[in-house]
Amino acid sequence: MEQIETEIQKTKQMLEELEKQKLATTNELDSDLLLEEIVNLESNLQNLEEIRNNLLQWNEYVKQCEHDFVLDLIDIDPDRSKVIKYCKHCLFTKDD
Ligand SMILES: [Zn+2]
Repeated sequence: MEQIETEIQKTKQMLEELEKQKLATTNELDSDLLLEEIVNLESNLQNLEEIRNNLLQWNEYVKQCEHDFVLDLIDIDPDRSKVIKYCKHCLFTKDD
């Protein structure tokens, strides 16, 4: 979650920087290239924000879930496996 916030902030800063550069340039080719980068970054930003919103919604869902834990065996490596407990509704895992 924090990682995605950092990524969003970084993208916003890069966008600001590019927009400044675009305003400062008088060269049409540079301006077109910058515009292209800006459009790409804007769509990245939208994707990131969408992911963040989905994560937030999911977190809310997990909080409200009346967990119903089931046990499962997962393989750690070919020789060892581990029992995990997870909720069958929201997939929240519990370590104990
Ligand atoms: Zn649950």
